[in-house]
Amino acid sequence: MRVWIDHDECAGIGVCVDACPELFEMAGDGLAYVRQGGQTLGRNQVAEFDPSLGESVLDAAEDCPQDCIYIEA
Ligand code: SF4
Repeated sequence: MRVWIDHDECAGIGVCVDACPELFEMAGDGLAYVRQGGQTLGRNQVAEFDPSLGESVLDAAEDCPQDCIYIEA
């Protein structure tokens, strides 16, 4: 499964990091970014994640106040 953040919409509130710290992290610019293989990806980049994280990634997307987290099968 894959996930990405629309950085034109992200407001840096950090709910996603609370829901799934394995995949999301806050960066120095105050916005959240997705991680893959121990690396933080860039703006709007897509990360593949293990299906075992699916529930917490879904929680992040549902709780994001900007609705700017997109999950792809
Ligand atoms: S919860 Fe949404 S708006 Fe808040 S930091 Fe994460 S992606 Fe950005």
